[in-house]
Amino acid sequence: MTIGKADAGAFSEWLRGTEVSLQSGPGEAKVPCGACRGCCRSSMFIPIKPEETKTIQRIPRALLFPAPGLPKGHVLLGYDDQGRCPMLVDNECSIYEDRPQTCRDYDCRVFAATGITVDPETQAEIANRVKAWAFDYESEGSREEHTIVREAAAFLQKNRDLFTKGSLPGYPVQLAALAITIYRLFAELTGEKLTVPPDAAIAQAIMNAIKRRKDARK
Ligand code: SF4
Ligand code: SF4
Repeated sequence: MTIGKADAGAFSEWLRGTEVSLQSGPGEAKVPCGACRGCCRSSMFIPIKPEETKTIQRIPRALLFPAPGLPKGHVLLGYDDQGRCPMLVDNECSIYEDRPQTCRDYDCRVFAATGITVDPETQAEIANRVKAWAFDYESEGSREEHTIVREAAAFLQKNRDLFTKGSLPGYPVQLAALAITIYRLFAELTGEKLTVPPDAAIAQAIMNAIKRRKDARK
């Protein structure tokens, strides 16, 4: 199923807001979802941190299980045999005011912005919505910014083998977020230079930036 165009808003304004929320941590994406509930019906495990106590209290114990590889207290909320979140009732989130931070953060416009795709089989509703999003451009510079974000994302996808194991995230939404985090660096490294560094040097610079960011959060 395809849907008509959906207004994603002004690109550079969206990009600035997304950069800020990626830097400042938990917030709330203001996505004009309309009637779409794609991400609540797309076979996604939703990680919930131990400090999200209100959320955990609202979800029946039987629906939560320990998150593999994470410290005690981190849990996952699964989905039913049709890929739906069990907290989706009558097509609305039954715990909306206390929904997980992951749900608050999720903004499928990152896929439209980066060109990174989701699985069209298990996440068809999200894929359709992503196809429908249309950004406006405030200026020619805004259009150019979008091109750079897409190029940064394409670089990450094409050059996975240049990154040390585990340095690039596995989930498409995390890879898209990373592309947005590093697109300025990517532009500095590749833009308007007589000699563009080799791909391996660009990958190393990105890995250094990822490490600096992780260290700063400790
Ligand atoms: S898939 Fe996108 S538009 Fe649909 S509910 Fe999720 S965030 Fe909103
Ligand atoms: S908790 Fe609510 S917002 Fe999150 S996936 Fe489930 S129904 Fe959707």
